[in-house]
Amino acid sequence: MLVGIGFDIHRHSNNDVLYLGGLKLDGPGFEAHSDGDILLHTLCDALLGALSKKDLGHYFPSNSETPEKISSVEMLKEVLKIIEYKKYNVNNIDIIVISQTINIESIRTKLVENLSVLLNIDESKINIKGKSTDNIGMIGSKEASACQTIISMSYA
Ligand SMILES: [Zn+2]
Repeated sequence: MLVGIGFDIHRHSNNDVLYLGGLKLDGPGFEAHSDGDILLHTLCDALLGALSKKDLGHYFPSNSETPEKISSVEMLKEVLKIIEYKKYNVNNIDIIVISQTINIESIRTKLVENLSVLLNIDESKINIKGKSTDNIGMIGSKEASACQTIISMSYA
């Protein structure tokens, strides 16, 4: 069995469109070289980690080598190629979105649905948790939001 973990944090910006889990949502977006999708960035890093393939920044550095505002869905598709995703089965994925800004409860169904399509797996294998920080720190003050993802995979 293979296990991978991912962590990400981005600062919120009212000038950016909010992307999360590959969905365009209402609310303040994230400052980033890419579209700033913290959920997909942690998913990419968890996938890469499970297969010992370094990290997302190795393939998509935050400089001119990577197209500005690149879609994280495109990055995920590239990661799936890098790890030869078709050779593996996903056992389960557990995600925590740590945010005082984004209400996971209200968008969970849509997020799970979209991730199951992107990864071609059953929705029952995906869990998404929302966590506020009870107003503590830069996440609590709505300056930033973070995400953690853990994935378990097996050889197909
Ligand atoms: Zn990121």
